[in-house]
Amino acid sequence: MNRTFLPLLMEWPDIAAKSVRLQVTNSAAASLHRGHPWLYTERIKQESHQGQAGDLAVVFDAKKRFVAVGLYDPHSPIRMRALRASKPGPVDADFFAERIRQSLARRQPLLKTATDGYRMVHGESDGMPGMVIDRYAETAVVKLYTLAWLPHLSSCLVCLLEQQPFTRIVLRLSRSMRQHPECLHGLEDGQVIYGDPIRETLTCIENGLRFEVDPVRGQKTGFFLDQRENRAQVEKMARGRRVLNAFSYNGGFSLAAARGGATEVTSLDQSSPALESSKRNFNLNADIPAVAQAKHLTIADDAFKAMAELVKQKQKYDLVIIDPPAFAVRRSQVKEALNSYGRLAHLGINLLADGGDIILASCSNPVSPEDFRQTVCAAAERAGRPLHAITETSHALDHPLDFAESRYLKCLFARA
Ligand code: SAH
Repeated sequence: MNRTFLPLLMEWPDIAAKSVRLQVTNSAAASLHRGHPWLYTERIKQESHQGQAGDLAVVFDAKKRFVAVGLYDPHSPIRMRALRASKPGPVDADFFAERIRQSLARRQPLLKTATDGYRMVHGESDGMPGMVIDRYAETAVVKLYTLAWLPHLSSCLVCLLEQQPFTRIVLRLSRSMRQHPECLHGLEDGQVIYGDPIRETLTCIENGLRFEVDPVRGQKTGFFLDQRENRAQVEKMARGRRVLNAFSYNGGFSLAAARGGATEVTSLDQSSPALESSKRNFNLNADIPAVAQAKHLTIADDAFKAMAELVKQKQKYDLVIIDPPAFAVRRSQVKEALNSYGRLAHLGINLLADGGDIILASCSNPVSPEDFRQTVCAAAERAGRPLHAITETSHALDHPLDFAESRYLKCLFARA
């Protein structure tokens, strides 16, 4: 047992006593007043001095009135992430403790659902811009998107541990942070910064289903926590059906369908390790009779190619789930992304048995829900199978949406 923090973290240099004063454009001030937490460099008219990452920055408007206070990062195009706007107030350990307490309180309803894998702190939407904390049973995974959190990290994590007694905390660093090793003083992405090293495979429970989690090498922080409610919905639709789960990763939707009584589930992903993990996840849940009875098949291939091949073979499924990775991160990629969603929808509908259901998700942030829906519907029309009984879902309770940039997930359920 080694339930202590990495000494490096406890000895992190203090922030400067003097905060950086930033005078900003009127539009930036208005946006911060409205609660948008980001201040881009180009919207700063005057900067008192160049501070260090993590120093506090106080923002003023042209008339020198207080606008916001937040974390300063000289290495990021987002120069300041606001913690308080419109009304000044302290930013200290008590402040962080309160934000973390509120985040945890928001998730209370989840604890009644046999779920110990969920997002505890969702960055901007929980008032902790640039910090995500995911819980996987007794392990917390803290993902940072700005160097500005580093001087404050140990005090935040002490608050976290007071509220939830984790046995381990894993640190994940964004790509942009990893580009500044000189600011990391030896901290590494994937490092265990508190508690025991990871020796065994970690697991978490989602709605009573067990999943392996690899917080160091896995995608995101180890599991796609954002699809929990959509998986639960799929479970309700699966009885007696033949299911195709494209872009299956480690089989989240596949397991849900199996427990819901699907007779056969095919997981399709280009990643063989992800498919191997999905097979292990079926084994982990083999004590559930419906999971043990469902036939689980895997296809390791490009989904576009494999689905076209399945169409050629005249395969039909009663339930087709398509949950690809983000196709667009910038506006300039939206057209191409919509084109890909259209192709996938067309392929999926051609694989759908009469009266079957298709579930299509998009986690491309710049793709609007309207464009996504329209593209999918148009593809269905082209395939001669117009969609009906369409419902759309968005974010679950642990991925709150207080902030436009965090509105990425769209999921469409429809019958054709
Ligand atoms: N549906 C999953 C999450 C999907 S993440 C869940 O519920 O957890 C996206 C997945 O798509 C990854 O596993 C990745 O390996 C896979 N992938 C990316 N591009 C692909 C492609 N062209 N063909 C097949 N799989 C692909």
